Amino acid sequence: MRRRLRGGKGEKYMDKIKMTTPLVEMDGDEMTRILWKMIKEELLTPYIDLKTEYYDLGLKHRNETDDQVTEDSAKATKKYGVAVKCATITPNAARMTEYNLKEMWKSPNGTIRAILDGTVFRTPIVVKGIEPCVKNWEKPITLARHAYGDVYKNTEIKVPCAGKAELVFTAKDGTQTRETIHEFSGPGILQGIHNTDKSVSSFAKSCFNYALDTRQDLWFATKDTISKKYDHTFKDIFQEIYDEEYKDKFEAAGIEYFYTLIDDAVARVMKARGGFIWACKNYDGDVMSDMVSSAFGSLAMMTSVLVSPDGVYEYEAAHGTVQRHYYKHLKGEETSTNSVATIFAWTGALRKRGELDGSKELMAFADKLEKATLQTIEEGKMTKDLALITSLEDVTVLNSENFIREIRNTFETL
Ligand code: NAP
Ligand code: MG
Repeated sequence: MRRRLRGGKGEKYMDKIKMTTPLVEMDGDEMTRILWKMIKEELLTPYIDLKTEYYDLGLKHRNETDDQVTEDSAKATKKYGVAVKCATITPNAARMTEYNLKEMWKSPNGTIRAILDGTVFRTPIVVKGIEPCVKNWEKPITLARHAYGDVYKNTEIKVPCAGKAELVFTAKDGTQTRETIHEFSGPGILQGIHNTDKSVSSFAKSCFNYALDTRQDLWFATKDTISKKYDHTFKDIFQEIYDEEYKDKFEAAGIEYFYTLIDDAVARVMKARGGFIWACKNYDGDVMSDMVSSAFGSLAMMTSVLVSPDGVYEYEAAHGTVQRHYYKHLKGEETSTNSVATIFAWTGALRKRGELDGSKELMAFADKLEKATLQTIEEGKMTKDLALITSLEDVTVLNSENFIREIRNTFETL
């Protein structure tokens, strides 16, 4: 099908880009669901013969299907390899009444992660005019957080009185290993944590694969000098897998795997220029991702991709459904919600689909749409959240819809 380019000089025509394999499309909730539709209508379907397998993960439909739709969407992702997901509501008590839910359904992201067994990589979208608080951060720092075990699956005891605490492991055959933790002379506290070689290995593989994919160095850090068995095992597993499966590939790609102590890593990150992946244990990742993302500017400028150890990808925005804006929207009030992270979720997924299917057009489209998005902001046209933090002067604050339209106008000029 031939189509005249809007805003062109009248002589420019282009064919819509074809797709061979569908993307798994997971629709979501509230304000991000509104943006989702606008992005598709204004920025995608005019240029691409968009092929998707659509799953409605909006809370209403999750409830109607007893959450089966979430599971189905994750299985489809395994089948096709690439998904793009809109933000979704994780139900709480208030949502039970608001949506008249049959059950307090689990977090869709948790369900999907459990099926795909992946690691989440979060990357800030860097644009001129939104400067990171850390002056020397010239390129994005991608944070990879291990999402299993440690303090998040702990067992705790409040010790009431004097006594002896022991760590006991009973093997299947009944043999026991025993270590004294502490001889308490009075009240205190105790905590038991664990992880598994399997989970750490798949975390390591996801990180190595993602580093190769994005051609960036990989940093990993733990406290192995103090935790000689627990943290040291993380270090050892990463090193073994690197030496056996990835060393040659890293050298060929001209990238580096760098291990250091967590405190050294934190110090180096603050002095670094960026442009690398920082893999963190569960707790370190929880804490450091908040630091890195807020120092880069805004949650609305952060993308997130779940990468499974067998190379399946699910792209999304790092923020939620922006509920407060949605309620304004429902009342007919104007909103200025930032769609950048959601647009980048789409471009990430389309680029990966293009890469897997050998479609240069699809990859080039993704690059061009990202460029148009950033250029629009750099020209001073942005949503309110960015206008509040930008270093640019004379900015135009646009509403949700007009911001997306401006991106399209910029796109047409590229
Ligand atoms: P949120 O949706 O991320 O929004 C929190 C606040 O951050 C907003 O009220 C807004 O601030 C600002 N904000 C976030 N994204 C923005 C954007 N794109 N443009 C402009 N401002 C933005 O978090 P929440 O309000 O805590 O959660 C709402 C729902 O999202 C919850 O039901 C939660 O379960 C869900 N959630 C889903 C995901 C996911 O699917 N991955 C992740 C997190 C949360 P102002 O109001 O000050 O403008
Ligand atoms: Mg946190």
